[in-house]
Amino acid sequence: MRLRKVLGLMAIIIIIGCVFVINKYIYKKNQLAFKIEDPLYEAVMKRDILSLMISYPEYIKDVTREENNKVYVILNSGKKILYDDKKIKNRWQKAGNPDIQDMMEQIYPLNDITEILPDNYNPGCVRIYPLLKEVYGANKSQVQANLVKVSIGYRFVEFNKQNNAAVALQSVMKELLPLARQNHKVYAAAFPCNGTYNYRLIGGTNRLSSHAFGIAIDLNSNKYDYWRWATREEGQKRLNSYPREVVRAFEKFGFVWGGKWGNFDIMHYEYRPELIFKARYFSEKPTLGLPWYDGLQNNEKAMKYVWLIEERLASG
Ligand SMILES: [Zn+2]
Repeated sequence: MRLRKVLGLMAIIIIIGCVFVINKYIYKKNQLAFKIEDPLYEAVMKRDILSLMISYPEYIKDVTREENNKVYVILNSGKKILYDDKKIKNRWQKAGNPDIQDMMEQIYPLNDITEILPDNYNPGCVRIYPLLKEVYGANKSQVQANLVKVSIGYRFVEFNKQNNAAVALQSVMKELLPLARQNHKVYAAAFPCNGTYNYRLIGGTNRLSSHAFGIAIDLNSNKYDYWRWATREEGQKRLNSYPREVVRAFEKFGFVWGGKWGNFDIMHYEYRPELIFKARYFSEKPTLGLPWYDGLQNNEKAMKYVWLIEERLASG
């Protein structure tokens, strides 16, 4: 009698266990199938990868889809960077442990903004360090070996020569200097420059600043420039009076402006051509029925990457 009861109980436990495992398996399969077949997800992924490949052409050599539908961008060194870890992360986890999707997710607004953005909107604040290290230098001495001098009119500053960053800053300055001579507000916003290369961490974090890679410049600072120093109201006032000619000159050559971050940093400009490219061509969500690369059909250079991505990521 007792044995029958124990056996019965064991049978029930085994059945429940099996149902649980099977359910979990079906759920997982469905979830995966959903991801593969979701055309919008695929379109955004391809746009992100195109924006990255076209912005770091000498450093990213390929893209691949591997087991479990994992997509990687392959750097010249052979190092692979995962597109999407499929983890649910809050904004701090995204900044601390980002994948490419996290870095590209928030679209940088190329249009003018009149209000400080919400404090969780910080396009450009998520950075993939393995990529930065491969492109600009893996440590302090490697970064320093890549620094060159760029004229900002009254003096020279150091900037990273890799990936055209220093050339881009020089182009910005070429445009900005004549404007600064004509317009006092532009002059006052730009000069004196508050620094470029500085091998340091981001305040309050253990992550390297973009200044540590020599790809960021702080223009003339104001005590209301930085979200840690000023209230949002003070930041808003500074934003209102900031000359937009300066912003446009930087954006034109691939820089994002810290004034367009919820955690504002108004003196700060950072060379992030991948975000500017995405903002230029893919600021709207993909439209079903149109190719994901719609708008780039006449851009020969971009279309080379489009075909590569289509070939490498073809599913099934
Ligand atoms: Zn800065």
